[in-house]
Amino acid sequence: MRSALNCSTGFAVTPLADAAGPAVHRGRILSFLSDPGDGAGAASYRYFADGALIVENGRVAALGPADAVLGQLPTGTVIADHGDDLLLPGFIDNHIHYVQADVIAAGGRQLLDWLQDYTFVEEGRFGDPEHAGEVAEFFLDQLARHGTTTALVFCSVHPESVDAFFAAAGRRNLRMIAGKVMMDRNAPAALCDSPERSDLESRALLARWHGKDRLHYAITPRFAITSSAAQLEVAGRLARDFPDAFIHSHLAETRSELAWVRELFPSSRSYLDVYDGYGLLRERAIYAHCIHLDARDRARMAESGAAAAFCPTSNLYLGSGLYDIAAADAAGMRFSTATDVGGGSSFSMLRTLDEARKVARLQGQDLSPLRAFYLATLGAARCLKLEDRIGRIEVGTEADFIVLDLRATELIARRTAGAHTLSDVLRILMTLGDDRAVKATYILGRQVHGHPAATATIAPMKPVS
Ligand SMILES: [Zn+2]
Repeated sequence: MRSALNCSTGFAVTPLADAAGPAVHRGRILSFLSDPGDGAGAASYRYFADGALIVENGRVAALGPADAVLGQLPTGTVIADHGDDLLLPGFIDNHIHYVQADVIAAGGRQLLDWLQDYTFVEEGRFGDPEHAGEVAEFFLDQLARHGTTTALVFCSVHPESVDAFFAAAGRRNLRMIAGKVMMDRNAPAALCDSPERSDLESRALLARWHGKDRLHYAITPRFAITSSAAQLEVAGRLARDFPDAFIHSHLAETRSELAWVRELFPSSRSYLDVYDGYGLLRERAIYAHCIHLDARDRARMAESGAAAAFCPTSNLYLGSGLYDIAAADAAGMRFSTATDVGGGSSFSMLRTLDEARKVARLQGQDLSPLRAFYLATLGAARCLKLEDRIGRIEVGTEADFIVLDLRATELIARRTAGAHTLSDVLRILMTLGDDRAVKATYILGRQVHGHPAATATIAPMKPVS
């Protein structure tokens, strides 16, 4: 059992218990240092079975065993006591469409007819700022509820959809990445821009939002099928002009998509080669799916620093195929997990990790619980090159973290009570958990979802006899 902490001397911690709640948190704390898939084992993470962290000015100011951290605090300091619950960096979702929040669980057989029959119809509504604003708020509420604190987000072709999203994310102080879809063919006319218009609109949005608050812009050609060669050239020029902007698109999701790309770009060696030819492969370029790649494509992905977003619930929902983790690892290709709502069937990263493990198992591969949680936190931050700010709980990182409830349901409580290792606890959470397991979400140390945590007070020091 925990010991009561006594303490006298202390460094200055701002008085706690303001509207955002205490700035000192006690609980189990897990944060990754490297990829557990690299064989580092216990050296790949830091885990405090009884840990504490202190937030100052939105950043982690101290972290360690509770005895050591709390021992420095003045008597009377109020702490948020999370008991046996697990504190983790917030989840990072590296591929999701906010404009598809109302398409989730729609019909459709496979990607191309699903786009035509449901998605394009819905995206047509996002030229209306009021509609876009309402959906953006709903979407961000859902992310908070599911413990996702950063996402790489597709908007629609309308600049209004991007303005609405960034305005909402900015009001919430979120670290978010998004961009206007570039799409000038093979889609309804009302959803098409042109190379010139996509250039002008993307540049205006970059100027307005990229680097403002915690926001970043992503140059976002939808996929090779819906962009002409002239528009991909524009995207490549934008990428050169804004080297620290993100690039976000889809790649090699289904076989029928591949066949169409071959017809449209007959001189390209592969689907990936189309993007490569326009200068769209580099660090901070994220490609969703990457299922139907060959060894040369994977080697090129690794070499270029581009990363894949593995979207298992979407790939299973639309029957697109199975992402090959072993082949990606063999090539040294970077990837993380993502939901791809609304092709994906859940906002929950826990549900996503469960499905990711099943996709691995269907191919005779494995995804360990430690690696799964790495991919959804530090692994995703590394794909974005933002690991100095998010994806970890370390001194100096931004205090975006979540609390997972080991008693979220009767079944989870029963199973975690008998769990002997951290891996067992994580496996139970990712197999049985969903948004009910996310007890609280904190952005820059401020609670934005969940009930206020129980509090405790540092007791006066007992006189030494
Ligand atoms: Zn997508």
